[in-house]
Amino acid sequence: MLTIGEYTLHTLDVQYFSLDGGSVFGVVPRVLWEKVVTPDHLNRVRLAMRILLIKGKGRNILVDAAMGTAWSDKMKMIYELSEWRLDEELQRAGLQRQDITDVIFTHLHFDHVAGAFEERHGRLVSVFPNARLYVQKDNYETAMQPNLKEKSSYLFEFTDALGKSGSMELIDGYVELLPGIELFPAGQGHTAGHQLVKVTGDGVTLVHGGDLIPSSAHLGITRGLAFDIAPLEVIREKTALLDDLLEKRWLLYFAHDPYIEAATVRQGEKHVVVDKAVKV
Ligand SMILES: [Zn+2]
Repeated sequence: MLTIGEYTLHTLDVQYFSLDGGSVFGVVPRVLWEKVVTPDHLNRVRLAMRILLIKGKGRNILVDAAMGTAWSDKMKMIYELSEWRLDEELQRAGLQRQDITDVIFTHLHFDHVAGAFEERHGRLVSVFPNARLYVQKDNYETAMQPNLKEKSSYLFEFTDALGKSGSMELIDGYVELLPGIELFPAGQGHTAGHQLVKVTGDGVTLVHGGDLIPSSAHLGITRGLAFDIAPLEVIREKTALLDDLLEKRWLLYFAHDPYIEAATVRQGEKHVVVDKAVKV
C-alpha cells in the first residue's frame, strides 16, 4: 500500500500471462533481455497483469482489468493464463466487486479490458456492477474498427460488451477525474487513444506507465513492444515521460513487470534505470 495525499493505492495482483519474449522486447536481442527476465523453453516470458486500486474521497477506482475468465481453453493455454484472483485481492483491500465505483482503461487491448467482463448465460456482463468505465474516445473507435496490425489485440466481444454495458464514459483528451487524479493522453505510439493515469498529493506523484513503459525492462528508450504501432512515436513519448520522472522524482507504476510494482528512476550509464523499487 502507498499513501498519496488523500488516496491510498493498492496493487491487486490478479493474474499472470506469458508472451513471446521477442514480442515483449521488440528490437532488443535476446542476449540482452534474458538478463532481465528469464524465458521458458518456448521463449516465453511471464508477465504480471496488475490492477492498480486507488481508494479515497468515497471512491474505489481501478486502473485496467487484466484478462479475467472469459477465455477458451485454447487461449488459456496459448497465454499460459493463471487463475483469476480478483475477489481475494479485493478482499485484502477490504472491498468487494460492487464497491468499485470507477474503472479507467489505459486502452482496450484485451489484457487490459477483458477482466472487466465475465460470461453469464452466454453474454459478457460487467464484473463491476456499480462502476463507470472510462476510455478515450479515440481508443474506443480504434478498438471498434482495428487496423490489421492490432486485430488480434482488440477483441470485438470485449469492446462490444463495453459499448453495450450502459456504463461506458468516453473521454476526449485530458481530464481530472477527481482532485489529484488525472487522465492524460500518452500519445499514439503504442495505439491510438492510449492514456496514462497520474495520482498526485502532498508532493508525491505516481504515473501509471500503461503499455508505454510496461515494465522496468522497458525503461531503455528503444526497448519497445512489437505491438507498438509507431515505434518512433513511442520513443518520443517515452523520452518526454522519462524527463518528467527524472526531473520531478515521480514514481512510475509498472503494470506488467513480473517483479517490481513501482519505482523511482535515475539516469544510468546507458539508459534510465530503476533507482528505488517501491511496494504498492
Ligand atoms: Zn497494449
